[in-house]
Amino acid sequence: MSVEVIAIGGYEEVGKNMTAVKIGEDVIIFDMGIHLDRINIHEDTDIDRMHSLDLIERGIIPDDTLMKDVDGKVKGIIFSHGHLDHIGAVAKLAHRYDAPLIGTPYTTALVEKQIKGERKFKVNNPIRPLNPGSKMKLSKNITLEFVQSTHSIPQAVFPVLHTPEGIIVYALDFKFDNHQKVSPPPDYKRLRELGRKGVLTLIVETTNAKNTEEVKTYSERIARNILEDVMHGPLYEKKGMIVTTFASHIERVQAIADIAKKSHREIYFLGRSMERFCGIAQKQGILKLPKNASIYGSPKAVNKALMRADEDREKYLLVTTGHQGEPDALLPRIASNRTPFNIKEGDNVIISAPIIPNPTNAANRHIMESKLRSKGARIYSNAHVSGHAGREDHREFLRMLKPQHIIPAHGDLSMLAAYGELAEEEGYRIGYNVHILRNSQAQVFENERAHGGN
Ligand SMILES: [Zn+2]
Repeated sequence: MSVEVIAIGGYEEVGKNMTAVKIGEDVIIFDMGIHLDRINIHEDTDIDRMHSLDLIERGIIPDDTLMKDVDGKVKGIIFSHGHLDHIGAVAKLAHRYDAPLIGTPYTTALVEKQIKGERKFKVNNPIRPLNPGSKMKLSKNITLEFVQSTHSIPQAVFPVLHTPEGIIVYALDFKFDNHQKVSPPPDYKRLRELGRKGVLTLIVETTNAKNTEEVKTYSERIARNILEDVMHGPLYEKKGMIVTTFASHIERVQAIADIAKKSHREIYFLGRSMERFCGIAQKQGILKLPKNASIYGSPKAVNKALMRADEDREKYLLVTTGHQGEPDALLPRIASNRTPFNIKEGDNVIISAPIIPNPTNAANRHIMESKLRSKGARIYSNAHVSGHAGREDHREFLRMLKPQHIIPAHGDLSMLAAYGELAEEEGYRIGYNVHILRNSQAQVFENERAHGGN
C-alpha cells in the first residue's frame, strides 16, 4: 500500500490551505481554506455568490481540479481549526466530494456557518464533530485521532491518521502554549507516544520558520499581561476607548473582557465576525463574557451602539474588527468618519494584532493609523504575541514525533525552505526526507522509502 501526499493549496503562499493524503484506495482531505488577502477580503466580507472556478482562477481558493485525476475515494474532509485560511472554501468545494466534514465542535460550528451563508452551491455533506483526544474510524484501514493542540483559536487540534503504513500527522497551525485560559495545553504525552509508535510523515506549518531567532513563542499569558498594562490607563481616563483584535482569537477576547470587567465601562463587541466567532464560542461555553459585555453584529445594531458610545464616550469600551486597516472593516470606517462614532482628541486605540506581513496590509494599516492620529487619537500598537510555533518549538516538536519524512506547508517557498534548513539541523535532509512541494505536486512514500513527485 502506498501513501501519497498531494499539495493542493498553501504551498506557495500563506493562505488557501488544502492537502490530500491517499492511502491505498482511500483519500483524506485536510482543510479547505481561502486566501484572505488575494482580493482584499477581510473577516467581515464574504464570497457567497461567486462560483468556485472563478475563485480558483483568481487564486482565492485552492485549485482542487487535480483531484479528478486522483484514483481513490474521499473518506473524510478534516478541518484542523476554524481560521478562514483553513475552512473558508468549504462551501465552494465540499459538495464535490461524497464525504463527511469533520472537526472539533467549535470548528464544525464555524464550518456550518460558512455553509449557511453560501448562495451559489448546495452543500449537503454530513457534519461530524469530534472532540480533542477522541478517535473516529474513517475506513477499514484508517482511523483519525484529534490530538489536543494550541493556537490562536479554540479547539485547534493535530489531526492524526493511523494507517497500515504508519502515522501521518497534520500540524497546521499550532503553538506550544501551556497557559491559555480557554484551551488546555497541548497533549505532549500523546505526541511522544506517537513518536515511539512510528510517524511516517509530518505535514507541518512554517509561519515563523524564517524567523531565525532561537525562541519559543510566548504564551497568551504574556499577551494578557501586555493588555493589562496597556489597557489600565485608558480604561479609567474620561476618553473614548477602542481595542481591535482578531474576532476568532477567543483567548484574547476573553482577556480583554476580563481586564475591562471591573471598570465602569460597558464592553461592546462590534461587527459581524465578532458576532460569528464570539457568539458561537459563548453558546458552546468556551467564551464567558461578564454582565457588562454585549455583542452587536448587524450593521443596524452596530450603528445604534456606536451612536450611544459617541454621546457618552467615557462609558464604553468598543472592541472592533479592522486591525489590518481593511477599508470596509469597522475601525478603518471609524477612522474615515463613516460611522456615527467620531474620534476625538485623546481617545485611545489599542491594536492587539500584528501587521500580517504583506504590502496591502502595511499600506492599509498606515493609512488608518494616520487618520486616527490626525483626529487626535493615541495609538498603542502591537499588544500581541504570535499564535504560531517559534524555531525552538519546532525543534521540540521534531524530537517528540521523530517523523521519517517531513512536508513543510503553510508558506511560500522561502518559508518552506527555511523550515527545511531547521530540520537539517535536526539531522534531516532537504530532497531526501524533507520534501518541498509546490501547489499541485505530490510525494509518494512506498515501503517507507520515498521517491520523487510528479
Ligand atoms: Zn490558523
